[in-house]
Amino acid sequence: MPRITLPDGCRGLDMADGTKYTKGPGDKVDVSQAHADAIRRGYYGQSGIMRGGEQFTLGTKRGMACTPCKRVWNAWNHECPRCGAPTEEQTA
Ligand SMILES: [Zn+2]
Repeated sequence: MPRITLPDGCRGLDMADGTKYTKGPGDKVDVSQAHADAIRRGYYGQSGIMRGGEQFTLGTKRGMACTPCKRVWNAWNHECPRCGAPTEEQTA
């Protein structure tokens, strides 16, 4: 079962189908595979703020680096979620 870490300030997840996961900030939450896929496709996954296990790292150490922000995002972040600049593929 996929496990994700909620970002600071996030008190839980409300899924589109009405399922709610509630945890304190920083806690790990076990979610169903379907919900993990939804999260990965959605805002949290796209913005890179939701971190988790292999479901969210795509099984690789590759990341997309933003030079201005000096940070490496997830492999699917072709633009920096923070500043919007194009990212460059990087092998960390
Ligand atoms: Zn940036």
